[in-house]
Amino acid sequence: MRRKLIAGNWKMNLSAIEAREMIAGLRAQVDPMASRLAKDRDILIAPATVVIPAVAQALAGSSFALGAQNMHWEDNGAFTGEVSAPMLKAFGVTHVIIGHSERRHVFFETDEFVNKKVKAALKHRMVPIMCVGETLQEREASKTIEIVMRQMDNGLSEVPAEAAATVVIAYEPVWAIGTGKTATPEQAQLVHGAIREFLDDLWGKSAAAETRILYGGSVTPDNIDSLLAKPDIDGALVGGASLKPDSCAKIFRSGA
Ligand code: PEP
Repeated sequence: MRRKLIAGNWKMNLSAIEAREMIAGLRAQVDPMASRLAKDRDILIAPATVVIPAVAQALAGSSFALGAQNMHWEDNGAFTGEVSAPMLKAFGVTHVIIGHSERRHVFFETDEFVNKKVKAALKHRMVPIMCVGETLQEREASKTIEIVMRQMDNGLSEVPAEAAATVVIAYEPVWAIGTGKTATPEQAQLVHGAIREFLDDLWGKSAAAETRILYGGSVTPDNIDSLLAKPDIDGALVGGASLKPDSCAKIFRSGA
């Protein structure tokens, strides 16, 4: 049985002061249910890199995991503006979002970069949350499965079946991110099912059954339950709705 993973991606929002306030409000609603939630799910906050130390402090003693939104694949070196896995781990970061569509489309990250980062995260015993998803143009050209399978194939190149229980995939249709246009549970399940089949072929059925596949794209307290009801939707990667204590807490508590 796969544990759910519900992750808040704050993107480039919330300063350290705002983040402390946000976490206090969130913990007031989530901490009382922590043991119930811990039975079937992991919950995670991924703040902006510079805010990680403040959030690590604010989350001390809680059941929340701490994530990063990106990292470089090397441990150190001449990579101005980048951070590495050991630097993140020093602050208690356990998960890292890799290949988010904003990284791919705004910062031109390639599948090859994504693959290097996934392997670096695994090498450092971090959980890579590898994002895949098609643009609106690609969906309208009926290329959704082709694009997502290419991203899966390249992104997981040389990643062995032993990593299946650690690696997390986030299917995030680009047209649904920050637009208020959520994929229907049926649309999402279709792609999640194809991702599961891909993983079956790559790693074998029993290993593939351990990989969590999250949905992301305008998830809200109103649509989370119907998405999580689908057999291959194992959690959510949430942007906008994770920025407010009330909506974030409602999403984290979905179905509990
Ligand atoms: C995201 O940041 O990955 C995301 C899905 O954003 P939103 O929930 O705002 O669409």
